[in-house]
Amino acid sequence: MSSVDRLCEQLKAQGRRLTPQRRAIIQALCDYDSHPTAEQIFARVRQDMPDMSHATVYNTLRELVEMNVLRELDLGLGERHYDLHEGDHAHLICLGCGRIEDVPYDKEAVKLSSRHPHGFRIVDCNVIFRGYCPDCMPQEK
Ligand SMILES: [Zn+2]
Ligand SMILES: [Zn+2]
Repeated sequence: MSSVDRLCEQLKAQGRRLTPQRRAIIQALCDYDSHPTAEQIFARVRQDMPDMSHATVYNTLRELVEMNVLRELDLGLGERHYDLHEGDHAHLICLGCGRIEDVPYDKEAVKLSSRHPHGFRIVDCNVIFRGYCPDCMPQEK
């Protein structure tokens, strides 16, 4: 089953509406290989469906986030990015071209100090590394 079909099934299984518009939004999410913004999804879907509204895109993205199949990321870049990639991973962000990449990280190495009792039940942790990608790195001669 493709990831598009899988997500559509999950929507239906939760009693949520699956319209052609929603399917197109899910398709666009799957087509992007890296962390699109809502605007990028909107622009992509509008190519095939000129009647698509912002509200439909935002509502669908919000529902997928509620279902825990989509992560909404605030990477400090001004806009929220959406991430379908599963599992724990950190993000590499290029300060030159803005490209965002997934990178595995050692989850055990990122721990809160036990000397500071906080009483929180932690549900999420965002690890972001910023720097320059190979294309943007100053050339060494
Ligand atoms: Zn770059
Ligand atoms: Zn990611």
